[in-house]
Amino acid sequence: LNKGDVVLRAEGLRKTFGGLVATDDASFAVERGSITGMVGPNGAGKSTLFNLVSGFYTPDAGSVYVNDTEVTAQDPHEVAREGLIRTFQTPRKLEGMTVREAMMVGATPQAGESILPLFLSPSKVTAEERQNLDKAEELLERFEIAHLIDEPSTDLSGGQLKLVELARAITTDPDVLLLDEPVAGVNPTLANDIKRFIRELNEEGQTFLIIEHDMPFIMDLADPIIVLDQGRVLMEGTPEQVRTDERVIDAYLGG
Ligand code: ADP
Ligand code: MG
Repeated sequence: LNKGDVVLRAEGLRKTFGGLVATDDASFAVERGSITGMVGPNGAGKSTLFNLVSGFYTPDAGSVYVNDTEVTAQDPHEVAREGLIRTFQTPRKLEGMTVREAMMVGATPQAGESILPLFLSPSKVTAEERQNLDKAEELLERFEIAHLIDEPSTDLSGGQLKLVELARAITTDPDVLLLDEPVAGVNPTLANDIKRFIRELNEEGQTFLIIEHDMPFIMDLADPIIVLDQGRVLMEGTPEQVRTDERVIDAYLGG
């Protein structure tokens, strides 16, 4: 890959928790414009790698680059400002907020609660934030959940919450969007919709790195696919290469 074609690069990432090595010498790159998949057995280190590249964990060794800018050990909001946004395996609790309010909290890159006081003084909403909220509402329409905008977010199903998370993330216009298990616990019909939305957004230029446990889903959606095993990158290839690789079969069967 040429320099400008890489939106995210991880080099030699290592993270230990006490005596446990969660990832070791993990290196990979995400090509601009791709839907890159990340798979591996439970405990392989997928979520840890997401936390390392998005600034939620500090690596013990190794480096992270977003658009060729080094972001190693920077805070999540600094990494977000460079263009990397991630969603969580379990959507964050949005108790007490309607969907609209939840979208507003997400209208600034990983700003978290800092924008909450704006609800009390709408006049302080900047033009940019207003624009982001409009964009978020458009995305909810596209995701076919616009009718839920004034509902308490706690009334949403797991799948609907995942769509709200996706809309919030897209609103910030990231260079690369990391999704951690976007269809975990989602019914097959909605999972198919989510696949279609991701594909459409990708056709419009959005780059994705997606962890997913559901093999048929990720094999159908992503190319290339990075396979992790025991904290290391076991291989990277097309879905067909991954499907037929002896090492991958062994890793899953050996569990
Ligand atoms: P995956 O997402 O591939 O299932 P994880 O990255 O969640 O795997 O976990 C990799 C390993 O690191 C597992 O053995 C897990 O128990 C351990 N681990 C992950 N996060 C922590 C943490 N915060 N504290 C202690 N151990 C952790
Ligand atoms: Mg995980």
